[in-house]
Amino acid sequence: MRCRICGREAVYKELRFCPQHFQAFYLKKIRSYLASLRIRNLKVLLAVSGGKDSVALAHGLSQVKSEFGLKLAVLFIDLGIPGYSEECRKYARGIAENLDLPFCLVRLSDYGKTIAEIRHERICGICGTAKRYLMNRFAWENGFDYIATGHNLDDELAFILNGLLSQDLQMVLGAEKFSPTRKEKKLIGKLKPLYYLTEDENRLYCEINGLDYCRAKCPFSRSARQLEIKERMKSLFKSKQEKINFVKTIRKIKKPQEEQQVRLCEKCGFPSFQPVCKFCSLIVEK
Ligand code: SF4
Ligand code: ZN
Ligand code: ZN
Repeated sequence: MRCRICGREAVYKELRFCPQHFQAFYLKKIRSYLASLRIRNLKVLLAVSGGKDSVALAHGLSQVKSEFGLKLAVLFIDLGIPGYSEECRKYARGIAENLDLPFCLVRLSDYGKTIAEIRHERICGICGTAKRYLMNRFAWENGFDYIATGHNLDDELAFILNGLLSQDLQMVLGAEKFSPTRKEKKLIGKLKPLYYLTEDENRLYCEINGLDYCRAKCPFSRSARQLEIKERMKSLFKSKQEKINFVKTIRKIKKPQEEQQVRLCEKCGFPSFQPVCKFCSLIVEK
């Protein structure tokens, strides 16, 4: 199969691109994401787990940062998962060094229980709460304007499908490509520059650019509902375009007006929907 632009051997079969034109396609997606939201001259914290998506995100954003006047730093959250967290940290630190970006580390154990110490059937849900809380808090305390995450098209689809299958409209509508910063609520907005790029595309981007990433699996991943849904998605979607169509259709649904009010947690002073936030009630030692 040949590249649709230059006729050389294609490495990306679905859209027929050679390595050079795949690279151009990938960076164009990131550029148009930033341009569509007018993201310029801001301090952006990159949430890097060390996996392929966040490593590709860090590299991709670094390639365009000067065009958009972005100041970037890498944040790694150590969840205290024996064996796994150390392995992931190596790759997160590696990409920060490779790109000459500041590397920041936050340990869940400095706040309370580690993920390994939490015995719960919905451990991934609690882990997600911990990650969102810690990245928001770190970004707010260190003057970042936005947090960028490596969420990709497959993540968003899995999120939407999970919401639909469990009648959770908030989850369905929560799969947004952007959320604004509300400094008065200590809430730092999220950027998802890989929103319309798939897992396979991120993997290929890493390969083409010689980027090493963590391939280890979290020992708790068997309980990850997202992974199970992703397996089921393989027989549902025939092409990337179908995935995009699905997400775009869902995003046409208007959010109900009566949104939950964000307040500040009575214990830690960070955003919460309840008097005490989920992080303080589930993770912080009493
Ligand atoms: Fe956390 Fe679950 Fe992911 Fe493990 S698989 S890192 S517990 S969200
Ligand atoms: Zn080409
Ligand atoms: Zn709290």
